[in-house]
Amino acid sequence: MDCIFCKIVSGEIPAQKVYETDNIIVIKDINPHAPVHDLIIPKKHILSLNELEEPEIAADILLTVKKVAIIEGITESGYRVIANTGNNGGQLIPHLHFHVLGGKKLGPKLVS
Ligand code: AMP
Ligand code: ZN
Repeated sequence: MDCIFCKIVSGEIPAQKVYETDNIIVIKDINPHAPVHDLIIPKKHILSLNELEEPEIAADILLTVKKVAIIEGITESGYRVIANTGNNGGQLIPHLHFHVLGGKKLGPKLVS
């Protein structure tokens, strides 16, 4: 399959791995927007949140967020989690992923 994240999961394309479970991998974003910018990626090719059905994968992703925060040392300083979804959401790679950003005071909030 011609999917960059599937190729990272299979090891065909190298990536800086931060953490891994049976369901997900976490890698450093190649074009970081903050001192910490990691991507939580399900190993299964799921297009976006619209196609996410497995509760165990959903739970693994969410519980991995705080694990990543601990690993990256941003639990106390704080962070932001983003899942760009579809065209209006600005999703560029059609394989579900959650951005975890931190390590500095983050820029303008879109909400509140
Ligand atoms: P999105 O706009 O939410 O689809 O974000 C895709 C993200 O994947 C961007 O932040 C890219 O910098 C990142 N990205 C693209 N290719 C790679 C790669 N080979 N390794 C790590 N991150 C990547
Ligand atoms: Zn994929």
